[in-house]
Amino acid sequence: MQKQLALSLPNVLQKTRTLKDLKTLHAHIITTGLQQSSFAIGNLVAHCATAFGNMSYAYQMFDQMLEPNSFVWNTVIRGFQQNQEPKKALLFFDSMRTRTVPPDRFTFPFVIKACTDLKDRWKGLCIHGQLFKTYIESDVFVATSLIEFYVGLEDMRIARRVFDEMPLKDVVSWTVTICGYVNVCSDMEAAHQLFDEMPVKDLVVCNTMIGGYLKIGNMGVATELFDRVPKKDLLMYNTMLGGYVKNGEIEYMLHLFDEMPERDVVTWNTAIGGLVQNRRVNKAIELFHRMQLKNVRPNEVTVITVLSGCAQVGALDIGRWVHSYIDRSKFGQDVMVGTALVDMYSKCGSLEIAQHVFDQMSNRDFTAWNAMIMGFSMNGQSKKALEFFHRMRGEGIAPNEVTMVGVLCACTHAGLVDEGRRCFNAMHEELGITPKIEHYGCMVDLLGRAGLLKEAYEFIEDMPITPHTGVWGALLGACKIHSNVELAEVAIKHLIELDLEDGGYLAIMSNIYANAGRWDDVAKVRDLMREKGIDKTRGCSSITVNGEVHEFGATDKLHPRSKEVYEMITEISKQLRTAGHVASVTEVFFDVEEEEKENALHFHSEKLAVAFGLISTDEGCTLRIVKNLRICNDCHSAMKLISQIFSREIVVRDRSRFHHFKGGSCSCGDYW
Ligand code: ZN
Ligand code: ZN
Repeated sequence: MQKQLALSLPNVLQKTRTLKDLKTLHAHIITTGLQQSSFAIGNLVAHCATAFGNMSYAYQMFDQMLEPNSFVWNTVIRGFQQNQEPKKALLFFDSMRTRTVPPDRFTFPFVIKACTDLKDRWKGLCIHGQLFKTYIESDVFVATSLIEFYVGLEDMRIARRVFDEMPLKDVVSWTVTICGYVNVCSDMEAAHQLFDEMPVKDLVVCNTMIGGYLKIGNMGVATELFDRVPKKDLLMYNTMLGGYVKNGEIEYMLHLFDEMPERDVVTWNTAIGGLVQNRRVNKAIELFHRMQLKNVRPNEVTVITVLSGCAQVGALDIGRWVHSYIDRSKFGQDVMVGTALVDMYSKCGSLEIAQHVFDQMSNRDFTAWNAMIMGFSMNGQSKKALEFFHRMRGEGIAPNEVTMVGVLCACTHAGLVDEGRRCFNAMHEELGITPKIEHYGCMVDLLGRAGLLKEAYEFIEDMPITPHTGVWGALLGACKIHSNVELAEVAIKHLIELDLEDGGYLAIMSNIYANAGRWDDVAKVRDLMREKGIDKTRGCSSITVNGEVHEFGATDKLHPRSKEVYEMITEISKQLRTAGHVASVTEVFFDVEEEEKENALHFHSEKLAVAFGLISTDEGCTLRIVKNLRICNDCHSAMKLISQIFSREIVVRDRSRFHHFKGGSCSCGDYW
């Protein structure tokens, strides 16, 4: 009877699915007198630890034994280690030794793992020392756990010594050592050497090697290794796909994506994210649709990525469609999804809906508040931005640095100098936020735009941190608005010293000289730009029509309907002249010959986008344009007139803010 029960125990245990069943079995074992059998209790303890993670009952069973042998001790030590109680595992190891039960090759791997969990260098070294005196050190499981221990301590030197001294190595010991080189110290040379020597290379080690090369940006070797693996798994494809995205090689990424035999949600998210990062929003949306046709369920990451793409190019219609998809898919409760929606709507200039989404969110963290405040601020609704800032504080959500950039920008856009000063001082005194360089930039912008140029300059001189190009750039911009050549020269001198890479600043300086009629100086700046090989960033605007994003670069003719677009521009120019619009040519980039200046103005990218919008949408439709640079004076006054002449609302988001043109005026009140 006893013997039979003992023999059938492993089978019986396999069918024991609840702790209650296990307890019944334990009771049965006690009645049959098997409670002192190390074999029986050891099996029960192991099952209790692995299947139910219940170490307190496992310990009870163990504790009732008079002389548990090393098998039972091992099951208890392993149980504690596997159930995230490494300290207890080590404690039991110590009492096992005081009770003079000899540890064996099954004891040590788990004891060493416990040391690894605790990163207990001292204890680990002691155990290694004990092993040194026995044959056990060379056991493949024991040695591998030692390698893991040293890898965990980032000590590849000893890890390698243990590895080298192993008489017999298995796939795991090779893998652990190679992964150590890759993950601990990115030593791809050492890793590759072992990898070449490894007799049978499994997928784990191949994945690690490829990931390691991708991490150090060596696409060449990563691709070569990848091509050499005959049977790739999904993880490997995904790793490679992510590598292409990281390196901006979107065409290769798409090629690999199409080749993949299977794709999971990570695959789709990686590809969509890569496209969005590279402003290929149409293609990203296409994949988003394809993903659903293939019955892969998008998750939060997918919709957040697609929404950020929509926000980037101002694709409101697509964003709205994603929103309805989210509602149908019941993602709504997620803070991050809600925040992404708020961000998308505000960046598309639809503040009412942004606020509606914000109000509906059941849970709002600081990122949600920041998105809303930034939205109001960018759209020129400064009062609302400040109101929400106070509400945020009222609800006990601590503002952070990002919040304060939004708040200070709001003050800048509305010329609220006193309020701005108050908020800036509050950062330090009430909110415990140390102002960063961007906050100083905002303050210089605020003071400068309001015409307080001298104060702005003094503010820069008093800064506790070294001003960067943004700070001097803000002063320069203010000097342009208020035609102050002297301070502009101070600002540009600092900008040149800071080795500016953005040619835009020199262009502004030349405009300041041009406005003052100082043509000799204009020529000098022009020479400097040539000498430095600086080119002005190319203007680029996008507009979404019928769910497709259309991009226009200044003067380019790449769009399939560009002939009609240019005809429309001619028509617009004619109407503008009739309405009395005089082009302000000083804004044109000066490398253009004088007589071409007015022409070039007509072909600024936002004008091309508006012309396209006018010919491809129904009457009365709002045109939404996103521009990568600041809108120039001429385009700004042209847009105002176009909104009146063609009875269209035009929303332009430029690099710093929104302009809502309607009936001949702009929401910014010409203050930008
Ligand atoms: Zn322009
Ligand atoms: Zn405006």
